[in-house]
Amino acid sequence: SKQINVALIGNPNTGKTSVFNALTGLNQKVGNYPGITVDKKEGICKLPRGLKAHILDLPGTYSLNASSLDESVVIELLLNKNDKDFPDVAVVVTDVENLKRNLLLYTQIKDLEIPTLLVINMADRMVKKGISLNIEHLEAQLHTKIAVVSTRKNEGINELKELITNYGVLNTTPCLNISTIDDAYFSNLKKAFPNQLLYKLWLVITQDVNFGKIQRKDFNDINDFKTKSTADLKRLQQKETIKRYQFINAVLKEGLTIDLSEATD
Ligand code: GDP
Ligand code: MG
Repeated sequence: SKQINVALIGNPNTGKTSVFNALTGLNQKVGNYPGITVDKKEGICKLPRGLKAHILDLPGTYSLNASSLDESVVIELLLNKNDKDFPDVAVVVTDVENLKRNLLLYTQIKDLEIPTLLVINMADRMVKKGISLNIEHLEAQLHTKIAVVSTRKNEGINELKELITNYGVLNTTPCLNISTIDDAYFSNLKKAFPNQLLYKLWLVITQDVNFGKIQRKDFNDINDFKTKSTADLKRLQQKETIKRYQFINAVLKEGLTIDLSEATD
């Protein structure tokens, strides 16, 4: 039977490799992405009901506004549905102590309308830090399922496997309607590319992605839409980031509580 393609994505130091090790055990190999020296770690995970997943441990990335070679590996995979590693489900790994910052990337991946699960890792730190989570609220507002995990204590991994097995129930509701950052510009874009996801077009316009790896024919004439000056595009990207953090702050207001009187360090 077909393996479920899983991509582990997250900011550096959130525990992606620890989750990767917990899922794949010794069933892993390290290679390279073609033409570049970035490590490619992949492995096989046995799931409930005899299913299997192919797990890819992607390089750490802060956002899809790529700036480094490592980060461009992530964006080029997520923009290329024909890549054999294109995920059936993206698993975004976050650190419970840095949830606000870590969720920025989550909202971007969600907006590519890829089925996405959220791992909140380092759960063993919660008591010490006086952190409590309202998982039901977070799942509803972030339109996903959440695994609360401590790779350190080997907790939550079976729950994560269960969620991966059932990735078919995930919806692809986006977090941000990208057109709200410039209605006129995006409505023209929509007219020119009626069958393309606006956020995907926005990434192709603003990021210097390697067209050799994505479907160039889908983006013919995209250069016509680079009509805005670089400064204008930068300004819109900043507006996008602000809107994403507004969304995240609103979600965390009820979703995450830090009670310092409960904290012990
Ligand atoms: P990556 O950069 O996202 O691949 O993260 P790593 O898996 O390399 O982990 C980064 C650091 O966080 C390492 O020092 C890990 O030991 C630590 N770490 C990973 N998972 C946990 C966890 O569940 N609890 C705690 N306290 N630390 C963790
Ligand atoms: Mg790593």
